[in-house]
Amino acid sequence: MTEKPVDNEGERHSVQFGGRKIEFALVWRNRAHLSIDVHPDRTVIVVAPQVHSLQEVLERVRKRAAWIVKQLDYFERFEPLPPPRKYVPGETHLYLGRQYRLKVTKSAKDDVKLLGRYLHVFSNQPGDNEHTKGLVHGWYRAHAQVMFERRLALCLQAARGLDVTAPKIIVRRIKTRWGSCSKRGTILLNTELVKAPVDCIDYVIIHELCHLKIHEHTPAFYRLLSRCMPDWEHRKARLETIIL
Ligand SMILES: [Zn+2]
Repeated sequence: MTEKPVDNEGERHSVQFGGRKIEFALVWRNRAHLSIDVHPDRTVIVVAPQVHSLQEVLERVRKRAAWIVKQLDYFERFEPLPPPRKYVPGETHLYLGRQYRLKVTKSAKDDVKLLGRYLHVFSNQPGDNEHTKGLVHGWYRAHAQVMFERRLALCLQAARGLDVTAPKIIVRRIKTRWGSCSKRGTILLNTELVKAPVDCIDYVIIHELCHLKIHEHTPAFYRLLSRCMPDWEHRKARLETIIL
């Protein structure tokens, strides 16, 4: 899927399936196809073409209900979700699939460094968690940009047969997508992806590179993806089990 990322907002609706109530957020977009996504935090997001009626959308969601429930149950196995980060010392934070413990030290100059098993924040306001959060986010952003560009160069080399020109990479915090690609050839990657192992990062990059050739998720798209990255399904499954 390559549509623009949607956040968790949207109209709230639900359908019944057996004894279960499936709740979902509905977002209307100017696009041709309806998509249903179930996310690891067990939110269900439906993006529907503006020309659809609500009745049509509910019908489509009902038809996919068995699949939605299966996805929800799958993600439930990974509960409990970690509590939201508070940016206090001792907390663990992920980088490239490895856990680092947050350390905060008073310093005249703000800085963040990965030192051994620590994500070490040097802060002029060490007691201020919001300040720490800002520093950590800035560090992730900067590292995401560098890391994604490095991986992109390697992915382009590995998938030489793909024959695409290097796209511009934009890194941004997105709630519900790891990546997307625009028809103008820009790839948008989620800052959070830098928390995942390199194998998973490469999967998202290759997936989006394939979209530069074939925009929709057609069988031809998956054939191309498999040719560029034969083990993509394994990487995708791994990415889906990561709880950030
Ligand atoms: Zn896609």
